[in-house]
Amino acid sequence: MAGNLYDALLGEAGQEERPLLRDETVGVMSYRGFADQCARLAGALLDAGLQPGDRVAVQAEKSVAALALYLATVKAGGIYLPLNIAYTPAEIEYFLNDAQPAIFVCDPAKLATLEPVASAAGARALTLDAAGGGTLADAAAAARPRVETSMRGGGDIAAILYTSGTTGRSKGAMLSHDNLLSNARSLVENWRFTDRDVLIHALPIFHTHGLFVATNVVLASRASMIFQAKFDPNRIMEAMPQATCLMGVPTFYTRLLQHPGLDRESTAHMRLFVSGSAPLLAETHREWQERTGHAILERYGMTETNMNTSNPYDGRRIAGTVGFPLPGVEVRIADPETGAVLGGQEIGMIEVRGPNVFQGYWRMPEKTAAEFRKDGFFITGDLGKIDADGYVHIVGRGKDLIITGGYNVYPKEVEMEIDAMPGVNESAVFGVRHPDFGEGIIAAVVLKPGADLTEQGVIKALDSRLAAYKRPKKVAFVAELPRNTMGKVQKNMLRDQFARTFE
Ligand code: ATP
Ligand code: MG
Repeated sequence: MAGNLYDALLGEAGQEERPLLRDETVGVMSYRGFADQCARLAGALLDAGLQPGDRVAVQAEKSVAALALYLATVKAGGIYLPLNIAYTPAEIEYFLNDAQPAIFVCDPAKLATLEPVASAAGARALTLDAAGGGTLADAAAAARPRVETSMRGGGDIAAILYTSGTTGRSKGAMLSHDNLLSNARSLVENWRFTDRDVLIHALPIFHTHGLFVATNVVLASRASMIFQAKFDPNRIMEAMPQATCLMGVPTFYTRLLQHPGLDRESTAHMRLFVSGSAPLLAETHREWQERTGHAILERYGMTETNMNTSNPYDGRRIAGTVGFPLPGVEVRIADPETGAVLGGQEIGMIEVRGPNVFQGYWRMPEKTAAEFRKDGFFITGDLGKIDADGYVHIVGRGKDLIITGGYNVYPKEVEMEIDAMPGVNESAVFGVRHPDFGEGIIAAVVLKPGADLTEQGVIKALDSRLAAYKRPKKVAFVAELPRNTMGKVQKNMLRDQFARTFE
């Protein structure tokens, strides 16, 4: 493929008047209008001293200008490095010291706090607000637009994205121009995107799902999008009659299911609902299909690899599975200890290899080396199996595996049994230190309104369903499960909260 991602996504398309997006602040913007904004921003970055390979770190509210800043950085030959809008100044300090960007862009309201942090890390601070204003926007307005795209090889780094930090400290995943482009093309093909598609974009743009999956797929197919600053069920409902596709995390779907207007008619114009970033409950899949007639398409990816597998566009989309490897992506199941490849539907470590797999963790050569097998497969950290029909199933993260009395327990198996009980909304099963068993199993359970289940009731109901060692020793009823912005359950927080239960 070789070359700058920008040219592939916006080189020719950026000459066209076709609509790219509709947004509350900027109205309708064409591909050409967006490319012009990218050129101005690229000019401003170069004026600010950006050199090829320099990082541009950004903590900004979601806006069209912030999206353009991603592509402008790539166009100018820099490395785009978005940061979660929720990060505190102390966290930002860590990331800036780690990434050592040349330029740091933040909200004007945070400048006073973050300017000293940026300059200590050697970065020049500029601002961008939710409406697209700020010192960066001023510099862009004054800059000579950068028309040419900087020369980059396909293997050069286009972006560094930090992982979500679900299992520990976030790591910076280095993604090349080819990593991003190959995955965008593969998804366009797989999900049948065309220039007639209209995507509802309501995901954050600091994470791979909203930044790369959603945006790059739209650009690579010359589709358009309804760009929404944040997820609001009412606004999604309003947009659906003009849209064809929604990409969401599971919470989008559970929240939309609570909307009385969700039915076949309100979703009649849509052709595709995609879910990912966290496991979709099989029940959500079924309810969605009953209410709307659409089968949600679940796919599996991660910051380090973009997307790995997807349920089929044509063919059965099976609830509780993440489908087949994408074209060009190899997926195998291996023994977590020895790396020996497993067959016969055995559960083991999910490993992937392909043009989508990242170039390593930023400034962590040892960690990078430890996460790759000698033959180039990346060790995802997720446990799963491949069934007889070739569908990949994720049973949980390796770090969440519970070892109790010497036996392995996969939390998902227990969660599925609990979730199936009448009166249960959802659950999270995890292990904490136990004096006799090594780890003792706890289930945090969220009940449906009005349900009258008791702790003993839950444990008893599991009697006939699960071997004794898999049954929780404690059931705690909680109002909700702790989740991050991507809808991921934060089992670390549950483990901390219940750490002393068995002491
Ligand atoms: P960290 O690596 O810092 O602990 P993280 O793994 O949550 O955080 P991301 O890269 O945002 O950071 O998330 C990727 C992970 O999300 C995958 O490894 C997998 O565990 C989970 N995931 C993504 N899609 C799905 C899915 N469809 N079903 C189940 N899990 C999923
Ligand atoms: Mg991870």
